[in-house]
Amino acid sequence: MMLFDQEITEIKNKAEELIQGQLKKMDDIVDHNQWKVIQAFQRHQVSDFHFSGSTGYAYNDRGREVLDEVYAEVFGAEAALVRPHFASGTHTISTALFGVLRPGDELLYITGRPYDTLHKVIGHQGDGTGSLADFGITYQETALTSEGLVDWDAVVSAVGPATKVIGIQRSRGYDWRSSFTVTQIAEMVSRVKAVKPDVIVFVDNCYGEFTETIEPTEVGADLMAGSLIKNPGGGIAETGGYICGKRDYVDLAAYRLTAPGIGGEVGAMLGTTRGIYQGLFLAPTLVGQAIKGSIFAAAVFEQIGFETKPAWHEPRTDLIQAVSFSGPEHLIAFVQGIQRAAAVDSHVTPEPWDMPGYEHPVIMAAGTFIQGGSLELSADAPIREPYIGYMQGGLTYSHVKFGVLMALQTLKERNLL
Ligand SMILES: *Cc1c(COP(=O)(O)O)cnc(C)c1O
Repeated sequence: MMLFDQEITEIKNKAEELIQGQLKKMDDIVDHNQWKVIQAFQRHQVSDFHFSGSTGYAYNDRGREVLDEVYAEVFGAEAALVRPHFASGTHTISTALFGVLRPGDELLYITGRPYDTLHKVIGHQGDGTGSLADFGITYQETALTSEGLVDWDAVVSAVGPATKVIGIQRSRGYDWRSSFTVTQIAEMVSRVKAVKPDVIVFVDNCYGEFTETIEPTEVGADLMAGSLIKNPGGGIAETGGYICGKRDYVDLAAYRLTAPGIGGEVGAMLGTTRGIYQGLFLAPTLVGQAIKGSIFAAAVFEQIGFETKPAWHEPRTDLIQAVSFSGPEHLIAFVQGIQRAAAVDSHVTPEPWDMPGYEHPVIMAAGTFIQGGSLELSADAPIREPYIGYMQGGLTYSHVKFGVLMALQTLKERNLL
């Protein structure tokens, strides 16, 4: 590629050669999941008329009903609730938790501190915001061990009569820890149920869908949620979220989303239905493209001496690629370089800013077709030690490669390579 000089081209070629085997493994996962999704469409006889959308109360919207069934089937769950009415992943997770928790109950997260935006959902007693705590639902979490694993001694002693829901976060989020594979989640489910059989195991599946051949609800998780502007929306769904799991729990979440007694039987899809179906159809392949991009990124940054998590050869269970840089200038060059390769908004230069709710300035690259869509190539970094940059997504593998190489180019132009 003439765009890049010989040094960068050599780094690229070496990385591509190194990762051939990993890319092949991802192709196999894509094939498995692609057929899984097609089979679910076939079993439910998805047809053109399911895509037409609905207005008003939208009673008997077959497109919406079959969409729920298809999602349930793909995720190996009894039921699902797939709606454009979920404003974000946080809203979806919040709806699932409020659906099943009651005053006096306790939520116990066993995978350490949950994703940032959930802190306000959990809240503090008397915060007056309608948080879980404000409704008298208590919260505990157990920190991960120094190896990044669940601390079972701590979990066993934290579980009590009030423990109603156990929370598991699959993805690392923006932490320098490993994400949990579905096999690890399966083990968590069985150990937790051995301690308290009637507990509801909830999994925050954001960023995890279709990165492996099985999903947490296929290995015993009772309730699970995710965002449609991440993996399962396939880059096409314009907004929304999904909840799936045991039918009773999904119904309770539906009562929370609309109203008790009404649940999932109303809710106009407007014109969103076709995009949500088509996005699900495309999701296995697009997740594959994004993961290939992450593997390439890891191989490139490792070559030039930065630590990566996961490393290029390690198994993956989510979209996030973390890279540990040596200083703030490197971090900023990395994020700005990613933006330079965007098809949308490449003419703007991201700068660190004091985002509400964050303690340190944050810099973000996002040139996306769907605002904030993070199955699309994006990168973020809080400007603080140890200077870790997080990147995720990419609708095409080729685009991610350009993003990574532009990041290298930017580092090089600033004499940081
Ligand atoms: C993205 C994400 C969320 C929240 O989703 P938003 O759409 O940003 O509200 C929650 N948990 C994890 C692990 C996530 O990756």
